[in-house]
Amino acid sequence: MHIEFHGAAREVTGSCFLVRAAGRSVLVDCGLFQGGPADEARNARPFPFDPKKIDAVVLSHAHIDHSGRLPLLLKSGFRGPVHTHAATRDLCAIMLKDAAYLEEKGAEWDNRKRRRKGLAPVAPLYTRRDAALVVRRFRPLDYGAAEDILPGFRLRLLDAGHILGSAIVELEVSEDGRRRRLVFSGDLGHAGGPLLRDPATVPEADLVILESTYGDRLHRSWDATWAEMGDILERARSDKGNILIPAFAVGRTQELLYAFHRHFDDWGLNRWRVFLDSPMAIEATAVHARHAVLYKAPTRADGPGLFELPNLHLSRTARQSMAINRIQSGCIVIAGSGMCTGGRIKHHLKQNVWRPHCHVLIVGFQARGTPGRALVDGARFIRLWGEAIRVQAKVHTIGGLSAHADADGLAAWYGRFREAPRVVLVHGEPAAMDPLAERLQGTFGARPITPEAGARLDL
Ligand code: ZN
Repeated sequence: MHIEFHGAAREVTGSCFLVRAAGRSVLVDCGLFQGGPADEARNARPFPFDPKKIDAVVLSHAHIDHSGRLPLLLKSGFRGPVHTHAATRDLCAIMLKDAAYLEEKGAEWDNRKRRRKGLAPVAPLYTRRDAALVVRRFRPLDYGAAEDILPGFRLRLLDAGHILGSAIVELEVSEDGRRRRLVFSGDLGHAGGPLLRDPATVPEADLVILESTYGDRLHRSWDATWAEMGDILERARSDKGNILIPAFAVGRTQELLYAFHRHFDDWGLNRWRVFLDSPMAIEATAVHARHAVLYKAPTRADGPGLFELPNLHLSRTARQSMAINRIQSGCIVIAGSGMCTGGRIKHHLKQNVWRPHCHVLIVGFQARGTPGRALVDGARFIRLWGEAIRVQAKVHTIGGLSAHADADGLAAWYGRFREAPRVVLVHGEPAAMDPLAERLQGTFGARPITPEAGARLDL
């Protein structure tokens, strides 16, 4: 029996691990590579294994860099079940549909240009139909319940506290009387957050496959982060402009809404109109409400309506979104995409970012090369639809809202295993992974492995 690393190996995206034992093959995650055009071109390459021979998939969580190639896997011949948490299934129904829509639009755009050049048309990576078909193969499994998914494969999911439904994947694999317990951290949550539970402790493993996204970084405390938010709202109010918040539709948006709900009075939010300008975020918020049982206990006790504000406007149609553009002051707009690469936030930036009394709140990770990153880095101009727009709005970066554990969180989670198990670091750039490897070695005497894509490890 062995494990192969086919993505998120010495990089963050494209999560994809193949476990082979007892004549069966189980894939853990099947994510898209994200980043520049060279990264994205890798998504169209054939899988480095035969999708027809994959017996089952286990999906850690709904983020596209973990789930986004599942429709492609189906298109390439996979016909097995996808085991995951019910909330992940519900979020994937939204997120894979959106990813497919972007693929279809991208191909349509390319083909307009290709036609003019006399070139043959290209097909999208997959369509909304492929996305819907793969979601039908999802088989929900509750946290803590063990299931024999195949002869020789016993699966248990535990709460990873990263986004709704996110799971630590425990696979007990048996072959010829030998048994190995593999624990995939998936993406581990940032403990102490407002909504979700802290990552579950796992007592034992023979091999831990640990994410390392922020293996080189420490987050600001939650209390300091809330205080920072309050201060910015105060300043923005005296400036009498608008506040724009580019946010991912799943997770960050709901955390923000809940923070607004909880701090409504102390942050003086009654003086603002709050717009959630994203149909996908509105849908994702409804999925959260359906799975409220997954929130941490004190939050659950706050009752239903965690995301409700008396002055919250849900904007679904393009006409509603355009109407917000006419408001000169006093509105807070939450819209996607999270890194300002597309979506409605671009229109709001165009209307507001050149105005000195407006504010932009950056609350999530911004990849290199994106307009969001340019704002974080203090660019004087940003380019939107080819037009250079002067940045005069005040840009604030709130680092403490991360959905990932920081270096302390990762080391603490690993430290709770009995007898420092063998550990493989994945899902991180080498610059983040290498300091974490040193730390695990220094503190626990572990000898972390950091495999390249395509590497294989015998169990
Ligand atoms: Zn994630």
